[in-house]
Amino acid sequence: MARSVLSEDRFQNEDAAFEFVESRLWPDGPHCPHCGNADPKRIRKMEGKTTRRGLYNCRECRKPFTVRQGTIFESSHLPLHLWLQVIHLMCASKKGVSTNQVQRMLQCSMKTAWFLTHRIREAMRDGSLAPMGGAGGIVEIDETFIGNKVGETPHGGRGAYHKNAVLTLVERGGSARSFHVESVNKDDVLPIVRANIAKESHVMTDEAGRYAKLGDKFASHGAVDHSRDEYGYTDFQTGRKININTVEGYYSIFKRGMIGVYQRCGEQHLHRYLAEFDFRYSHRQKLGYSDTARADRALLAVKGKRLTYETIAQG
Ligand SMILES: [Zn+2]
Repeated sequence: MARSVLSEDRFQNEDAAFEFVESRLWPDGPHCPHCGNADPKRIRKMEGKTTRRGLYNCRECRKPFTVRQGTIFESSHLPLHLWLQVIHLMCASKKGVSTNQVQRMLQCSMKTAWFLTHRIREAMRDGSLAPMGGAGGIVEIDETFIGNKVGETPHGGRGAYHKNAVLTLVERGGSARSFHVESVNKDDVLPIVRANIAKESHVMTDEAGRYAKLGDKFASHGAVDHSRDEYGYTDFQTGRKININTVEGYYSIFKRGMIGVYQRCGEQHLHRYLAEFDFRYSHRQKLGYSDTARADRALLAVKGKRLTYETIAQG
């Protein structure tokens, strides 16, 4: 019978979890988070009977530390093997896991489960500034709406002014980058589009007026008119497929994952959910990432993301 991934030692045993995390975060040996010392002769592992697990002492600054320090694992009492379980689940399930699921799995409070998953989302947030696309690259651009803005309720009639607007850029065969934007007006959308996509790229959008002049800023601009050709068309001169099916596919996963989550999570946290869906998309199976490889990427990103409950709760 196939063994479940979660039955592996690092998910079940705290010593194995420390060993695993140390091997990933410190591939060249322990690193003092206080003074930066990484000289193995100047760092001592503390191994007394009553010593805390994974404790080291720095001989430069004389301060103790563990691999949890300076990461999202700091200031949490949750055992590391349970952290690894949650990271794995969040990376392995296409639509994410709910706070309820985590709470049941860990038998912890809802607040702990909530804080835990948000810290993992924060680790997944890459904040990359490298332009997407490039020569020959195709980037699709689209927007969607989710949840109601605080203090706004639908007044009837048309329009989505009372909803939170999301802008997403997806490179075909590459990564996704999403933004919680004030509105989908030109002034809120175009600066992000121009800052995040290399000007040598081909861009694809729908027929919305806000994108009317994009052809001047990029190698080419294909616009699909959803009222005329639902699935786009092929440009016979270039052979390029003019559609935004990729970004629409991204949104369909995002929306299914957010069902029942969003109304309770609040708009100040939306960017972190977007980071989670971007992360899984940008490290998807098709790009060569197994569930384990994806979880490994998330683990490597835990450094420097130390957050308190207060900073997360405030968004
Ligand atoms: Zn030190």
